[in-house]
Amino acid sequence: MGKLQLWLICKSCGREFDTHARLDRRSFERGTLAANYHRCPHCGQRLTYRKADYLTREEQPRTITPAK
Ligand SMILES: [Zn+2]
Repeated sequence: MGKLQLWLICKSCGREFDTHARLDRRSFERGTLAANYHRCPHCGQRLTYRKADYLTREEQPRTITPAK
C-alpha cells in the first residue's frame, strides 16, 4: 500500500510545501496530529499546523527516494 505524502499550504506566504512526513492512510486517519511545527522552505516561517491543514498525496510506489 502506498503512503501518503503530507503537504501544507504555508499560513504565511500561501505556497505549498512538502513536509517530508510520510504516513500510511490508516495512521493518518487515526492520528491526532494536533499541533505540529513545520518550517516553510519558501519564506522560512515556522508555524503550527493541525491535521485539517494537511494536503495528502498518494506516494507513487515506484518512487525511490534515496536516504539523505
Ligand atoms: Zn511560507
